[in-house]
Amino acid sequence: MAPDGQILPPDVYSAEPIPGSARAEIERLLTSGDLFRYTAAKDAPVSLLEQEFAEFLGARYALAVSSCSAALFLSLKALDLPRGAKVLIPAFTFAAVPSAVVHADCVPVLVEVGDSYRIDMQDFAAKLPLADAVLISHMRGHTSDMDAIMALCDAANIPVIEDAAHSLGTLWGGRNIGTIGKVGCFSFQSYKMVNAGEGGILVTDDPELAARAVIMSGAYEENWKKHPGFQNSYCEWQNKLPLYNLRMQNLSAAVIRPQLPEIARRVQDGRRNHDHVATALNASGLMSVPPALPPELRAPDSIQFTLAGSWTDAQALRFQAEAKTRGVAVQIFGLSEGNARAFWNWQFLGEAPDLPLTRAMLMRACDVRLPARLTVAELDFIAEALCSAARVAQAA
Ligand SMILES: *Cc1c(COP(=O)(O)O)cnc(C)c1O
Repeated sequence: MAPDGQILPPDVYSAEPIPGSARAEIERLLTSGDLFRYTAAKDAPVSLLEQEFAEFLGARYALAVSSCSAALFLSLKALDLPRGAKVLIPAFTFAAVPSAVVHADCVPVLVEVGDSYRIDMQDFAAKLPLADAVLISHMRGHTSDMDAIMALCDAANIPVIEDAAHSLGTLWGGRNIGTIGKVGCFSFQSYKMVNAGEGGILVTDDPELAARAVIMSGAYEENWKKHPGFQNSYCEWQNKLPLYNLRMQNLSAAVIRPQLPEIARRVQDGRRNHDHVATALNASGLMSVPPALPPELRAPDSIQFTLAGSWTDAQALRFQAEAKTRGVAVQIFGLSEGNARAFWNWQFLGEAPDLPLTRAMLMRACDVRLPARLTVAELDFIAEALCSAARVAQAA
């Protein structure tokens, strides 16, 4: 609050402090210098994190790595796809996702994403016959229709990887997102539900896929024996697969583990925040927040909404500028120069495909951070700033 009693625009960028209980473990690691996951005979922090995370999600295996992008890359590699294999991905995702596909020597095929920020199932079904694998990015936590996707992919025997980088804590029909496909990948980068600066983890129930991913993540020689529940197949893969060395180190695990018990609260508060602001934006008639699909229980840490009705680009940019004046940063995915979530900026893929649905959506889709720690007064401030900015821009 400012000295004159006015509420200042909320800070949506600062992270929550890391739980204090991380300190003792970090101190122990610094004192012993035991930072490498495979030095200790057992119970290294990374190994404990894997066990706890697998249990938390109800998956058989978890493999902690250096980022979600690394997890996506290893998942594709562990599927043992031929070079040049086609991988369907949504056209609305972060540039790291097509990049992971390229990194794995595969070719991304972009699928249209509609107004609801979810995969357009008609385009998906049309492109599926081309595909060797499917990588579903639940972009900003928006879950595509996993029942329809799994039914089509199971019938065609096509493996599904879930990019759940931004979906930790999201449920689909009561199941954890990230455990519905063959493998699920999560991020511990600072803007995600659990913050370690950098880091990622993959989960799977498939022992063969787990074995291949563990070895390729950098479990050289017999280090795979330090992964609990190992199968004989690890022996078969040893020295037959490349070692990409994408391991997580113990300090990261020490920062992540004490945050796992915080997830339920963050999810609950994030959902409350999102729904509170969504109600206000929808009531304005100028902005619309697509509802969750019926089986989906979201875990948002940001809000996405579409400028509803007819807006010119100039009006949309005016809205962004008016919101900024009021202290609220809005990203309009398609209207910010070089945005990493706009498919036409992924020049490393060559010429951008024609994806009119996704393009139209990105030109009017707005993004505002809403961290779980915000108070109701701060949420009201943000909602009011957005509504008044929208009114001014529409009148312009
Ligand atoms: C953050 C994010 C990634 C990348 O995660 P990193 O851990 O930074 O590699 C991939 N996909 C989505 C949907 C994300 O939000």
